[in-house]
Amino acid sequence: MTQIVQMKGMNKYFGKLHVLKDIDLSVEQGEVVVIIGASGSGKSTLIRCVNGLEEFESGHLEVEGQALAPKGGNQKMLAEIRKEVGMVFQQFNLFPHLTVKKNIMLAPQKVKNTPQTVANATAERLLERVGIGNQADKYPSHLSGGQQQRVAIARALAMEPRLMLFDEPTSALDPEMIGEVLDVMRELAKEGMTMMVVTHEMGFAREVADRVIYIHEGQIVEQGKPDDVFDNPQNERTQAFLSRVL
Ligand code: ADP
Ligand code: MG
Repeated sequence: MTQIVQMKGMNKYFGKLHVLKDIDLSVEQGEVVVIIGASGSGKSTLIRCVNGLEEFESGHLEVEGQALAPKGGNQKMLAEIRKEVGMVFQQFNLFPHLTVKKNIMLAPQKVKNTPQTVANATAERLLERVGIGNQADKYPSHLSGGQQQRVAIARALAMEPRLMLFDEPTSALDPEMIGEVLDVMRELAKEGMTMMVVTHEMGFAREVADRVIYIHEGQIVEQGKPDDVFDNPQNERTQAFLSRVL
């Protein structure tokens, strides 16, 4: 099995706050890893480290065999890694002054020098794939939250990432729009995309995850197959958390 992400003994601080504590975590190609845990436990920080949005103080991190150094080290692989890793945030972060299609075309054209005609065709194909082929020429503010988030996913996919990171992609959505975004993610998973997903959607986690990881105060205290973690949590922290959210 090819490992896409490898973390060993990773530690991250914000000032004196020890946010990630000795994290060991590997993600294999095609694997869907869902990360759960209370607010403030370090879930966002963990996945933001994977594409270098956060620096870490010590330990080892490799993405696609390319090492990201701890703070102060040589970050020459950062640009390469970012090309391989797509990220979708809670807030969609689309460029408001660009149409939906231009939002999707921008990174391939700028970062990969993809010719305009190719970027255009890719954008149209991806918009079809996320179910909004008819919204290509609109501006983001004219779309619903669910549609905007689907554009954000298409935009990330346009770079042909080897790994997708999702940080609570449905938390800012009205309830009736959560399903359409989860459907797109479910399809991606089925097609074999490697994914790390922070979510509070436990139904999705149970159905789609290959592995569920529970983080408590910056430590992985439990992980396993979703049915095992949800139905038979071993750690009392996990039990307490799940009894609050399930
Ligand atoms: P989660 O995503 O699980 O809610 P985060 O990873 O966002 O948790 O945050 C983990 C801890 O780090 C929290 O205590 C949070 O307040 C703190 N934190 C997050 N980002 C910063 C930052 N940029 N500066 C200082 N503290 C931060
Ligand atoms: Mg978070």
